[in-house]
Amino acid sequence: MDAWFAAIRDFGFKDVIDILFVAFMIYYLLLLIRGTRAVQLLKGVIVVVVVTMVSSLLNLSASNWLLNRIIEIGLFAIPVVFQPELRRALEQLGRGSLWNFNLLLHEEPNMVHTVNEIVKACQVLAKTKTGALIVLERQTGLNEYIETGTRLEARVSTELFINLFIPNTPLHDGAVIVRGTQIMAAGCVLPLTENRNLDKQLGTRHRAGLGITEQSDGVSVIVSEETGQVSVCVDGVMHSHLDEEALNELLMKLVVPQKTSALSFWNRKAESR
Ligand code: ATP
Ligand code: MG
Repeated sequence: MDAWFAAIRDFGFKDVIDILFVAFMIYYLLLLIRGTRAVQLLKGVIVVVVVTMVSSLLNLSASNWLLNRIIEIGLFAIPVVFQPELRRALEQLGRGSLWNFNLLLHEEPNMVHTVNEIVKACQVLAKTKTGALIVLERQTGLNEYIETGTRLEARVSTELFINLFIPNTPLHDGAVIVRGTQIMAAGCVLPLTENRNLDKQLGTRHRAGLGITEQSDGVSVIVSEETGQVSVCVDGVMHSHLDEEALNELLMKLVVPQKTSALSFWNRKAESR
């Protein structure tokens, strides 16, 4: 009892900061992994830790030994298996999603222009059943993918998007990558998703569109050549069957920075992760 009182008496400002920092780190970690493969991992880790605690409480020495070895191996295996996620998390940290309070307060009206042009182009491409794949860069730099294509650095326009995807032209294959109001490159090669739950009917265009959103925080827009369907992928999730209004609304939400208060910073991060 005395120890408790002593602990409460010595509880100071430093401890408050300490607890807040730990709480913040846990919250940030959860935001980072929300909607990724790492959620399953976390559930698995929790199960192993709980089972280990129970087995050590009950003094089951053989089980304890086995579970401890599993944890040891896991510590080495996780960084290997989750290399893309870890890389992305560190990049986000470095690029400042965490320090970005100020950036989010400045609205960039030009992204509205980019979204409008893409939405208009998609309607035409969908009607004519022209296959298209457009990636919008956000915080994670996509230079390594831009370099796989042909550099354009042209101002976004509906006409240019439509032109780039006309079949049997040199640049129509692969993805167009957009940064802000510029079409950076066309004919880019993206990483394919390894998601096994994906509809078997979906081919490589859709797999590439989804794959890039697992490796980065980019947003991809896909027009299917076979069905004329428009889909948007973000954070490894595909949103399909989008009509003009739904496409516009989703893209606006994802790529146009929301101005307003720090409170909306939290809401925005929680929604988009
Ligand atoms: P659709 O519904 O339009 O047919 P799909 O998902 O069935 O799409 P495919 O028919 O396999 O996909 O589409 C092939 C096209 O996807 C290629 O011509 C190329 O333009 C694009 N593509 C394939 N792989 C990649 C990649 N790794 N990166 C970028 N684009 C790719
Ligand atoms: Mg196909």
